[in-house]
Amino acid sequence: ASTLPCLPIFEALKKHHAQSTAVIHSLSGRTFTYGELVNDVAAAKDKLQRNCGGKSAEGERIAFLVENGYDYVVTLLSILAAHAIAVPLSPTFPAQELRYILDQSESLMLLSSEKFQKQADDVLNEGMETSPINYKQEKIMLGKTDDYVTLEDPTSEKGGMMLYTSGTTNRPKGVLLPQEVLTAQSMSLLKAWDYSSKDVLLHVLPLHHIHGTVNALLTPLFVGSAIEFLFPFNATAVWERLGAPFLPNANAAKKPITFLTVVPTIYTRLLSSHSTLSPELQQATKTAIHPSNMRLNISGSAALPTPVKSAWTDLSSGNVLLERYGMTEVGMALSCGLTFSDRVDGSVGWPLPSVQARLVDTETHEIIQEGDEFDTATNRDRLGEIQLRGPTIFKEYWRNPEATAKEFVDDADGQGKWFKTGDVAIRRAVPNTGASKAESQTWASGPMYFIQGRLSADIIKTGGEKVSALEIEREMLSLPTVSEVAVVGLPSEAWGQTVAAVVVLSEVGRTAGRGGKQWSALDMRRALKEKLAVYKLPHEMRVVEGIPRNAMGKINKKALVKELWGEKL
Ligand code: ATP
Ligand code: MG
Repeated sequence: ASTLPCLPIFEALKKHHAQSTAVIHSLSGRTFTYGELVNDVAAAKDKLQRNCGGKSAEGERIAFLVENGYDYVVTLLSILAAHAIAVPLSPTFPAQELRYILDQSESLMLLSSEKFQKQADDVLNEGMETSPINYKQEKIMLGKTDDYVTLEDPTSEKGGMMLYTSGTTNRPKGVLLPQEVLTAQSMSLLKAWDYSSKDVLLHVLPLHHIHGTVNALLTPLFVGSAIEFLFPFNATAVWERLGAPFLPNANAAKKPITFLTVVPTIYTRLLSSHSTLSPELQQATKTAIHPSNMRLNISGSAALPTPVKSAWTDLSSGNVLLERYGMTEVGMALSCGLTFSDRVDGSVGWPLPSVQARLVDTETHEIIQEGDEFDTATNRDRLGEIQLRGPTIFKEYWRNPEATAKEFVDDADGQGKWFKTGDVAIRRAVPNTGASKAESQTWASGPMYFIQGRLSADIIKTGGEKVSALEIEREMLSLPTVSEVAVVGLPSEAWGQTVAAVVVLSEVGRTAGRGGKQWSALDMRRALKEKLAVYKLPHEMRVVEGIPRNAMGKINKKALVKELWGEKL
């Protein structure tokens, strides 16, 4: 008989009703039950172990290129079951980039599905002469077992996952997330967001980042939700799926989606395509995202623009987006609460269950105590770096002990080191938040965190003042003339840095200047004067057709500055 290790994820999978739906392929309508999933994972694990050439798979990195869907889920879980370290690769990466990850992670083998066989071959041929490692490539081997799958004796948690950071500020770093860290991240989210076996989650994200893998896949599997894959993201297809159960001739096979967790740019694209739908579908989709049908809409991975948030609230008749903050190294760290009034504009809420957070003054390096967040001498909120510790934090950057050592600071209390996120926030007590909570929601109380951006790219030092690019972006995005913006700091002899804005104008912006001309830098400063202190007003504005973003909707500001101002700097 086949076996699975006695790890929390497999204990959970075994407990779910074998006939209940685990995975749905949205386009074909194919469904897979928890019973099938458990069996297929056990069989795939056996095959995987047999294919390791007599070597134990334990602790080995196993990379894989598999499309979003059931096969991906089986592959990931079978690697975890073999106590190996899963390295999910993105098929959108060029062969060279994939080869870098294979080499950097020193993966034992590369698994690929039928669909990515050719791409896997290219990766293996890429840089073959220079690579010290000889990979073995296996086509994905989904076995079937009809045996009764049992759980082995309790084991310590071995293996895990290696995810690469988005590479927004530098070359992607391999982040080692042992099983117990992944489990702790899921447990924290389960408590906070109340996932349930009744949830049907629509999955439209890439599966090589923490958002798509931990929040939208592993965590709902723990409670027996159904996960429906619709990938790659396409706004019309998503609306059609969301609206399907609410159309007059609804197909009963399509259940209402109750849970959606995506990045802000996806909400933007959904909102802007809504008016192109047929009137019937517009109505049905409004019903689909109404709070009585859609239980939870989450946004994260980049700052959520307030106009996007309000537009979603309007369209859904009151379903306020829940914003949260996280990173590859720590999973999710801060989150707004389940109560609508706990989703304050611009805030990412409170430290999640089991996450310890503190703010360390970027200037004085003192820990900012509760109640001491506002500096009355300068009349400014104190800016602090977010530092975190607890069971959800990663252990190390793979094969990079220097980077690991640099990002952790010693504790003074002997309770463990703190991870320096490199992100800056302010904290404010917000009236009417955090009140009367269910027991599972008591974490959502106290002063709320407001992200100000990355220390390295978003905190601009100009004339002795520190300015948050994110704060300016927020204000600019609420102007009707601006459709996208990136605020950056440019080196300046006189000021240290000056603030500049890279803007994509909206339709309105194209003729909003004096005499029907294009909206200008001067118009921008006039429009922002009422909203921002004078030292925060951008000196310069560059109008562009589009701002390049990576798969998670993030902007590499260093590259953007180089591209637009490179010749001058
Ligand atoms: P790299 O570390 O390679 O430069 P990255 O930091 O973008 O890339 P990720 O780990 O995917 O890689 O992203 C984490 C970062 O995303 C955080 O450090 C933070 O800057 C940003 N982020 C995540 N959620 C939010 C949010 N709600 N608001 C603002 N920024 C966010
Ligand atoms: Mg990072």
